[in-house]
Amino acid sequence: MDRYCVIGNPVEHSRSPWIHARFAALTGQALEYGRRLAPLGGFAATVDSFRAEAAAAGDRAGGCNVTVPFKFDAAAMAQSLSGRARLAQAVNTLRFEPDGRIHGDNTDGVGLVNDIERNAGVPLAGRDLLLIGAGGAAAGVLGPLLDTGLRRLVVANRTVDKAVALVRRHSAQALGHSTALEAWALDAVPGSFDVVVNATASSLAGDAVPVPASVLRPGALAVDMMYGRAAAGFMDWASAHGAVPRDGLGMLVEQAAEAFALWRGVRPPSAQVLAELRTLVDAA
Ligand code: NAP
Repeated sequence: MDRYCVIGNPVEHSRSPWIHARFAALTGQALEYGRRLAPLGGFAATVDSFRAEAAAAGDRAGGCNVTVPFKFDAAAMAQSLSGRARLAQAVNTLRFEPDGRIHGDNTDGVGLVNDIERNAGVPLAGRDLLLIGAGGAAAGVLGPLLDTGLRRLVVANRTVDKAVALVRRHSAQALGHSTALEAWALDAVPGSFDVVVNATASSLAGDAVPVPASVLRPGALAVDMMYGRAAAGFMDWASAHGAVPRDGLGMLVEQAAEAFALWRGVRPPSAQVLAELRTLVDAA
């Protein structure tokens, strides 16, 4: 049996074990996927014990997903990184290679883009997008967002220096796509946008939406990376100001599908699993 898990702190709320169990069932893959709570400062030790326990039981540890707050630790632990993970300096998927080495990738960005373009039906080329946040999630999605050919992409963060650093790291990529890439403080964002993505932990913390409603163009798509009850404040704010709200459930399933394909070489039916998960979450 091949073993996988999601590692985070907190992690008990994670839907990843359910999603990967459905992917495995629908693609006929034999695997086990669990969750591991890592103590702060204890990410690498948690990965090592997960691998050692699998080996002791005669199983193979195939990889793990990484969630808050360990995406930067995972990037530091990997011995090789995909191009998108190197640019992000953040990793949400580790693959344990047969020779024992650890490969790191970041599937958050392609998950978000697939959800916006395929599931929500909003093509991003030529549009203006506001990305709120400059933590691991924002770092992971910036490169893939630029690859869609946006006209303008603004990164706004509470700690503005972090937004500036993120924008600097991606400036050559933006230039290559002729995308205007800018960094601003949360209360100083100029103009309005077709798409607004909340990649901060504000919803998780139960805090107010950290930007003024003037950033929303009429009919804008407003995506919060959170889902379930935690996303309700942002979704209500978006609806109240004439935007189309969307939670992070689609991104979650799409980034998982990309990780599953990386590990197993098989693409799972993500649209079906998203529909099933939506029913489950709405009923909760
Ligand atoms: P992180 O690395 O800890 O970064 C947190 C970010 O949120 C930073 O930009 C931080 O600003 C900002 N922030 C925190 N509280 C805030 C507040 N009250 N007001 C304004 N900004 C605030 O976390 P992360 O990994 O980026 O994750 C961010 C969120 O995205 C989490 O809620 C996570 O669950 C979600 N997420 C969802 C998916 C999905 O698939 N749906 C994938 C990835 C992440 P400072 O820099 O100023 O501290």
